[in-house]
Amino acid sequence: MSSMNTSPETLKTALAIVASASHVARVVQRDLENIRQITKDDRSPVTVADFAVQAIVGMELNERLGAPLIVGEENADALRQPGQEAVCEAVHQAVRRHRPDITLDQVLDAIDLCNHDAKASHYWTLDPIDGTKGFLRGQQYAIALGLIEDGQVTMGIMGCPNLPSDHALPLDQADDTGTLYGAIKDQGAWEYELNTELSDKTRRSIRAGTYQTGADIRTCGSVEKAHSKQSDTQRILEHLQIASTPVRLDSQCKYAVVARNQADAYFRMPTSSTYVEKIWDHAAGSLIATEAGAIVSDILGQPLDFSQGWGLTSNRGVIGAVPGLHEQIIESIEKLGIAETVKA
Ligand code: AMP
Ligand code: MG
Repeated sequence: MSSMNTSPETLKTALAIVASASHVARVVQRDLENIRQITKDDRSPVTVADFAVQAIVGMELNERLGAPLIVGEENADALRQPGQEAVCEAVHQAVRRHRPDITLDQVLDAIDLCNHDAKASHYWTLDPIDGTKGFLRGQQYAIALGLIEDGQVTMGIMGCPNLPSDHALPLDQADDTGTLYGAIKDQGAWEYELNTELSDKTRRSIRAGTYQTGADIRTCGSVEKAHSKQSDTQRILEHLQIASTPVRLDSQCKYAVVARNQADAYFRMPTSSTYVEKIWDHAAGSLIATEAGAIVSDILGQPLDFSQGWGLTSNRGVIGAVPGLHEQIIESIEKLGIAETVKA
């Protein structure tokens, strides 16, 4: 049964909101050095982009799609602290690119709409800047918005401002075309070029690849070693006799890369037995990948369980891969005894 929230009209509105926020994030990333200098803080550009995106998405979801609950990573209290004036000013400037007349108080109120409760029967979850390290390096990052209804992701929207719209271009380099993704549970996944107008004419249906024995397998994973255990990925690749090296890129762009048939597998191997994956790091991306035909599970082969609040407490790590290959990866993890070392 599809809910009233998952209509194509709702998706269209959510896509437009994420597109606006993506353009603002892009402007902040291009102004990175300047913001660093003004705030005398190396990390401040990501703070500025995070809050600007939260303000835009929070405000517009509230205005255009009722008053849903958003689970963001931060609230505006941090911005109200003394000493944060320069950051506040930069956030305000960024949001004004999209909403020229907005006041700083309205911006702070909009950020506060993103409270942290994930207990409602349906709510939106937002990662304003997923892949903060990539954002700061001038590389890949994503604005990721997911709708969770009764513990299931029913809609996923993702803006990838640096992911090339031309699939022939290298994935690990920033490109200024950018892409936007939308998926509705049981209805499909679509890609748009971020710089074009959103319409049924400009959208393309995306499909993940199909596994063929003997074909070259393409894989991807995090840039950050702390986010995925690269030596475990390597063991699996060797076990499956896959010779290629994984493409490294930050953020949920990895799910999009599998969804649009540029990688056959995304590995996210746990680095500890205690780390709990967050719903906002996986809601949008995992739906986009599965609606394109890929299989997404944890490293034990269990489906990601979005019914436990803000954490994927029932899961460990993530494997997203095309059918046929996915089973082999899970089997390989079992045979190599990798899961044993990361069970809670
Ligand atoms: P990625 O860009 O795919 O490397 O993932 C970025 C996300 O990794 C961030 O949004 C963090 O929430 C998350 N993260 C932080 N620490 C860890 C960890 N130890 N294991 C897995 N993910 C993590
Ligand atoms: Mg994130």
